[in-house]
Amino acid sequence: MICPKMGPLSVQSLRWRCMGSGNISVGNQGARNMAAAAAFEGFAMTRMVGVLLWSAGIAGWYIIRYPFERRAKKIGVARSIFDRRESSILAFAFVGLFLIPGLYAVTGFPAAAERPLVPVVGWLGLVPQATALWLFRRSHLDLGRNWSISLEIRDRHALVETGVYRLIRHPMYSSFFLLGLAQLLLLPNWVAGPSGIVGAAVLYACRVGREEQMMLERFGDHYRDYMAHTKQLIPWII
Ligand code: SAH
Repeated sequence: MICPKMGPLSVQSLRWRCMGSGNISVGNQGARNMAAAAAFEGFAMTRMVGVLLWSAGIAGWYIIRYPFERRAKKIGVARSIFDRRESSILAFAFVGLFLIPGLYAVTGFPAAAERPLVPVVGWLGLVPQATALWLFRRSHLDLGRNWSISLEIRDRHALVETGVYRLIRHPMYSSFFLLGLAQLLLLPNWVAGPSGIVGAAVLYACRVGREEQMMLERFGDHYRDYMAHTKQLIPWII
């Protein structure tokens, strides 16, 4: 294949030598495909890109949460369940979703658990990540002043049945599962990848029963009716 003024090209050199010329001499479809493949190389999925995208997701997560956390401090609490079990569950989720992948991002530990990197798998991770961040923000906005990090009933707590809560009762937990799935796809490591889903599963499994019990005690039949026409995590399914 000939690039004007530059002579023969390899796929590797094509990107550098012809990029920006807008004038690649392509004699056939195969050459055009090679040019496209070479251009795509510029966005290659590497371990570093996966780690950076995962970090960007965590930064986005924190940016979404921060204003709600600040506001929540000013809203009175009528009832709180914050015992050792609750703090252990939160700690477990933190370790799986943030600490283990964070350590991997910074140090590469545990290197022995590294798995082969499959570029398309890495790119696919962006789908659950974007969905998780959207759902995370949406559920905070919908819960408004009723949101809290642990199991709490606020002063003048209202039962929210609108927005994403119209379809599922625990969209925030769904967003944690999606964040965990993104972590699995973005980080090519058999420990740091799956630890997020494990953390989300522990959070969900150990907390959701207690949370619903608390809501039933506070809202009675109103919450029972709400449960009857909604699912927990995935609309119409689970
Ligand atoms: N489990 C929910 C909310 C997590 S935040 C989710 O995954 O989206 C936890 C707090 O939200 C709990 O302390 C509870 O008081 C409150 N909460 C949960 N569901 C609610 C609802 N439908 N309306 C109002 N408050 C709710």
